Amino acid sequence: MKRILVTGGAGFIGSHLVDALLEKGHEVLCLDNFFTGSKSNVARHLGNPLFEVVRHDVVEPILLEVDQIYNLACPASPVHYQYNPVKTVKTNVMGTLNMLGMAKRVGARILQASTSEVYGDPEVHPQTEEYWGNVNPIGIRSCYDEGKRLAETLMMDYHRSNGVDVRIVRIFNTYGPRMAVNDGRVVSNFAVQAIKGQPITIYGDGTQTRSFCYVDDLVAGMIAMMEAEEFIGPVNLGNPSEFTMLELAEKVIKLSGSSSPLEFRPLPPDDPTQRQPNISLAQQKLGWSPTVELEQGLKPTLKYFRSVLQED
Ligand code: NAD
Ligand code: UDP
Repeated sequence: MKRILVTGGAGFIGSHLVDALLEKGHEVLCLDNFFTGSKSNVARHLGNPLFEVVRHDVVEPILLEVDQIYNLACPASPVHYQYNPVKTVKTNVMGTLNMLGMAKRVGARILQASTSEVYGDPEVHPQTEEYWGNVNPIGIRSCYDEGKRLAETLMMDYHRSNGVDVRIVRIFNTYGPRMAVNDGRVVSNFAVQAIKGQPITIYGDGTQTRSFCYVDDLVAGMIAMMEAEEFIGPVNLGNPSEFTMLELAEKVIKLSGSSSPLEFRPLPPDDPTQRQPNISLAQQKLGWSPTVELEQGLKPTLKYFRSVLQED
């Protein structure tokens, strides 16, 4: 049994990670400022003596004694990370520095939740870990993309200079139950719109692609990476099945039995045109592959949104 810190543990991915770590018998400490996360995501564990949740902003230092740190604190949806871009940079840079400082002090292993956004609007397809990316340093996505790139830099420098035991995972678009209704990312937007019978908002012409990973698969990959010996990454974690946004809309409409029309809106600046992970490294080093196909994962996701919207 280990003592494990999950920053951003009340968020979408973080709360599923908390579930999995508690399930494995670990003691879990969740730090969250509840910007995009919510207590309801972890409420089921509040009576569990192996679980603690602390309202804390990772931009501020904190002293804790733990064996492992999963650093997930950071808004992930463009709508939320662009709301206060300077804060997004601070969260990625100062937050990661604070967690690395803690890892160094107590000798903990630390895993950074990086992102496929480090590849920007990629000119290499599918993306391999060797690709350095095509990122606009001054655009509206830069606070997140460059923030995450600098977080990777900090991880590697603490590793090289201070011997900190680091792990880096580059997460590709992940979806599932507990995404916030107002999250603003494509799967939650389409699901909520389809259930409410509202127009499905397609940005641009809908031919841009993403590859969607179900959250349970992702969490299994993150834990496998944390437990890996002699391999620090970066490693891509995602599902290589690639879809256009029009294809995604069609699947969501079909599975929800909705009659929502499509509504085309302007494409936001710097929106990547294509994205697909090459996961050979994860398969080879971690023996990890995703198992849940998009339609299979959309079913529990739609069920979740239906129940949340009914409560509202
Ligand atoms: P999310 O927005 O649901 O979760 C982020 C969590 O971090 C929330 O609980 C939020 O309240 C918390 N948080 C934000 N700023 C904080 C701060 N300064 N101090 C403390 N807590 C803070 O997003 P998610 O989809 O669960 O993403 C989790 C992590 O995975 C993020 O680091 C994100 O960048 C990364 N990631 C996610 C995806 C994806 O598709 N979901 C893809 C790539 C990377
Ligand atoms: N998108 C869309 N309609 C929406 C929300 C997003 O067409 O209501 C598009 C968006 O322009 C992008 C893709 O869906 O091309 C994925 O967007 P998301 O915000 O989910 O993630 P990211 O762009 O960070 O991969």
